[in-house]
Amino acid sequence: MTRPADATSGAGLAPLPPTSTIGILGGGQLGRMLALAAARLGFDTCILTPEEGAPASRVAASSLVAAYDDPVALAEFAARCQVATVEFENVPARVVDRLLAAGVRMAPGPLALATAQDRIAEKTFFRSVGVDCAPFVAIDRAEDLAEALERIGAPALLKTRREGYDGKGQAWIRAPQEAEAAFAAVGAAPAILEGRVEFVRELSVIAARSWSGEIAAYPLAENTHEHGVLRRTVAPAAVRETTAAAARQIADRLLTGLDYVGVMGVELFEMADGRLLVNEIAPRVHNTGHWTLDACEVDQFEQHIRAVAGWPLGPTRPFARAEMINLLGDEADAWAAYAADPAARLWLYGKSGARPGRKMGHVNRLTGALPD
Ligand code: AMP
Repeated sequence: MTRPADATSGAGLAPLPPTSTIGILGGGQLGRMLALAAARLGFDTCILTPEEGAPASRVAASSLVAAYDDPVALAEFAARCQVATVEFENVPARVVDRLLAAGVRMAPGPLALATAQDRIAEKTFFRSVGVDCAPFVAIDRAEDLAEALERIGAPALLKTRREGYDGKGQAWIRAPQEAEAAFAAVGAAPAILEGRVEFVRELSVIAARSWSGEIAAYPLAENTHEHGVLRRTVAPAAVRETTAAAARQIADRLLTGLDYVGVMGVELFEMADGRLLVNEIAPRVHNTGHWTLDACEVDQFEQHIRAVAGWPLGPTRPFARAEMINLLGDEADAWAAYAADPAARLWLYGKSGARPGRKMGHVNRLTGALPD
């Protein structure tokens, strides 16, 4: 029998029956859309989040509002759910360990989470499975930067090793004299220095792996960022056949190498010659996969729930081309206009308090038929 992937609690592969409870660590919009997908398949969800009235809690069967490492809340969470997943990658390792020790199946598991939480571990893993990425050097102190810049060359991008997202915790170094200020700008914390990748486009692949090792990948998406935040995704991306095949091979290597269960987002840089470098992985459903909600029979959220619950993975072939636009800050105030547009599929996250740049919702549009 196949060992449950990365599941040190090993509760077997039997499909989770409807009415079971799936635990979700994190209460944001990704958790919300996971909870909606789970409900559609007859599951209950229990959200653990420190935030009162979080977007996911508003649609879930139950919620626990507590710090992630609160032992009482974790014990209750473990008692309520048969399997648990995450909607953000920075779940502390001690939380995952505690849930596994309580007999909860975790998907993804501790190896995938630990790898994605640390940019050095992540890039070292990429190399170990033969996946290309930017040249990099670990930086522990400001004094490490001079030698690192000599090795990698300038300009180079300094990123915090841990807890960076949406372009936060990053500083460009164009010349050695900028090094000290850049290290201070990322909080003088352990960091990674990456060579600048001269990419032509940013792409991503959303792929899922089941407990038994089956993999299903959606076609590549093309992504545009503004101020470090995703603005627009177009899918399927117009790419060469060889690029699509390379993305599929990268996804296979990453998911298999981590003994991964669930949906993963893989951010890629496309080079002028069509070659792909991996920027980073997200061990969860991903903003660049939101287009699947309206252009695929089984979207990334249902796919993740299927994988986590030990159900068969669904088809990943889209039935239409799609464009996804994020609604940031007060852009979601135009909801009435989107609702009046018959071509727009509006997704709002139930958040109040539209800070500039905050992800409040998104709009999908189908932009054309796909050949059979
Ligand atoms: P990240 O937080 O690693 O996803 O980086 C945020 C954005 O910075 C990416 O979407 C890219 O646009 C850009 N970026 C990140 N790493 C590099 C790199 N090594 N070279 C050039 N641009 C980069």
